[in-house]
Amino acid sequence: MKASQFFISTLKETPNEATLASHRLMLRAGMIKANASGLYTWMPLGLRVVRKVEHIVREEMNRSGAVELLMPFVQPAELWQESGRWEFYGKELLRVNDRHDNLFCLSPTCEETITDIVRKEINSYKQLPINFYHINTKFRDEVRPRFGVMRAREFVMKDAYSFHADYESLVRDGYQPMYDAYCRIFDRLGLDYRPVAADTGSIGGTGSHEFQVIAESGEDVIAYSDASDYAANVELAQTLPLSGSRAAPAAALEKVSTPDVKTIAQLVEFLNVPVETTMKSIVVEGENEGELVLLLLRGDHEFNDIKAEKLAGVKSPLTMAAPEAVRAAFGADGGSLGPVGFAGKVYADYALEKGADWVIGANENHCHYTGFNFGRDAAEPEFVDLRNVVAGDPSPCGAGSLKLTRGIEVGHVFQLRTKYSEAMNAAFLDKNGKSQIMEMGCYGIGITRIVAAAIEQNHDERGIVWTDAMAPFNVVIVPMNYKKSDTVRQAADKVYAQLLAAGMDVLLDDRDERAGVLLNDSELLGIPHRIVIGDRGLQEGVVEYAHRRSGKTETVPVDSVDTYIRTALGNG
Ligand code: ATP
Ligand code: MG
Repeated sequence: MKASQFFISTLKETPNEATLASHRLMLRAGMIKANASGLYTWMPLGLRVVRKVEHIVREEMNRSGAVELLMPFVQPAELWQESGRWEFYGKELLRVNDRHDNLFCLSPTCEETITDIVRKEINSYKQLPINFYHINTKFRDEVRPRFGVMRAREFVMKDAYSFHADYESLVRDGYQPMYDAYCRIFDRLGLDYRPVAADTGSIGGTGSHEFQVIAESGEDVIAYSDASDYAANVELAQTLPLSGSRAAPAAALEKVSTPDVKTIAQLVEFLNVPVETTMKSIVVEGENEGELVLLLLRGDHEFNDIKAEKLAGVKSPLTMAAPEAVRAAFGADGGSLGPVGFAGKVYADYALEKGADWVIGANENHCHYTGFNFGRDAAEPEFVDLRNVVAGDPSPCGAGSLKLTRGIEVGHVFQLRTKYSEAMNAAFLDKNGKSQIMEMGCYGIGITRIVAAAIEQNHDERGIVWTDAMAPFNVVIVPMNYKKSDTVRQAADKVYAQLLAAGMDVLLDDRDERAGVLLNDSELLGIPHRIVIGDRGLQEGVVEYAHRRSGKTETVPVDSVDTYIRTALGNG
């Protein structure tokens, strides 16, 4: 491709709407342009990267035996009503009416559509297993679209759905091959990633993994063992009950005045006590109307709402109790709450089980208790896992302790089991002619998010640093004075033709710009291999090669530059 026939629109200034490096660099490199919040146009340069990612994903999906089809972006409400998600999906689902006033939605995912196809097309065990996939636009009306294409409203996803006669087949023929294909995809893309166990929500079980690209800026936190393969999203990573016996109470229960103390930080400062001796109270709605459940955690621990939602007697989705209801049940407001005198169900985090002499809200505004002890001052609660793990916690796998890191979720494999096939009656006749509900798995990859995640991991102060697999162009030829020097132009055209003939993705930057602009742009765009051709070098028959990632530069005879580049590309 010649730059003069392409479209390059780099920016010198850093756009100030972008906080994340990848977002900034994508805008500066002219890969994307915003049309509205969470809506982007992929400019020609950016689209080339998207296509490279799609190509690798498609190859590996096909290799794994998945079959490509293409489902519609606009989907009828009836299917979503049938699965129950028309209500449940909430505001992320964009609903639209057609001219006949029929209701539709813009596809955020395709379980309903594919299940509808499969129940019509497949009726015998002989047609199973099958795994269908497509690569298509999705729309989710995200509460907070941000970080450019990382969390957009419209984005491109590869989604696959497998159907099986039984659970063994789901794991053997669907989940595991997809897990393996995802590893190959992220390996080929050259990403530093980690598959981590993830929450399965209402489906239960352990059949879900997220593929997380390791990045400081990631929205997810991952816990992993320093002594085994164990890795899980902190949403899921379990804490273990403490061993040993409980310390004996040493202090009497004493009410102390704590005016203007609303937070744990204020409490710790006001009473001058270690935060590890304080307890915080969270009040949520119970399963039955009007019931409240009290959840207790150590003051310095972070509440895990996904764990709380799964507790018996707690309303799902998790709902914080209204301030009036709290006042009626406890006689005090948030900030002064505790278990003393509360008659309802109380769950306490494992970390509270072995301690004594706690500081806790006294159920009287502006008052706390010191010297609180379970069993003596209030009934023993039920001890459960309620908090996020912290670095240093023992790994739930039994080996080593946990470390934390941040990640960007780029893929997700999930054992759906019969959630959709049951709701939508996707059944088949088994060997004995008996009707059975299909087992189902779903597998997503955020194609456009991968582009941003890769840049988060691969950039420096000068710009993007692409791997050969994802680069919009593998090689850029930068001629000095292409317009004015015949020698340079002829040499550049010749090398360009040679590299094209060798089947390379090569950009000849023949724009009429100063040398500095061309060189800076080649680094901003992150093209892995660069050849600079100038009059001075040509007098000696050489050009200058530069490798973007290592910064290595070398003088190469112009006559052998094509073999040189071929070798460089072969080596990645
Ligand atoms: P998240 O927790 O980031 O919202 P999700 O759990 O909603 O993700 P899935 O429903 O599993 O995501 O979708 C599959 C993949 O689609 C994700 O792994 C991610 O790579 C991508 N994806 C999801 N939401 C967005 C978005 N708003 N913008 C870009 N990519 C997205
Ligand atoms: Mg989401």
